[in-house]
Amino acid sequence: MESIPIKERFRTERSGGLVIGFSGIDSEKMLHFIHMNSVADLANEETVKALATPSDFLHGQEIVDIHGVEFTEFTPMKVTAFVETPATGRRTSVLEATPTGLKWHCTCASNRARFCKHLVATALETWKKAPGPR
Ligand SMILES: [Zn+2]
Repeated sequence: MESIPIKERFRTERSGGLVIGFSGIDSEKMLHFIHMNSVADLANEETVKALATPSDFLHGQEIVDIHGVEFTEFTPMKVTAFVETPATGRRTSVLEATPTGLKWHCTCASNRARFCKHLVATALETWKKAPGPR
């Protein structure tokens, strides 16, 4: 039987349209692997400062200082957290990286467009926790 060098074989398989499975890797890790923008990439400092009001940004930092953020889900593409402040109690914040960009939701805000202090706090904690340089 003829032996084909690994590199050559890979090229042959690719050109033949063979899809190589990554059964050991879940889809979210796979998306990260192919360098799709993660939550940490999309909700970067520049973006958060642009989305949030200056006072919400400051309040978000205060929430981080009192350790008010507790992650309930943390993947490269989606982050969910309980965000608790003495004044307002517990809210749930969600940051999600989608093919069309960053999406967010917080249980405090009736205005969905608002990037509130809870979301700021969640983003700040995400930068600390997410691996690698940005
Ligand atoms: Zn909020």
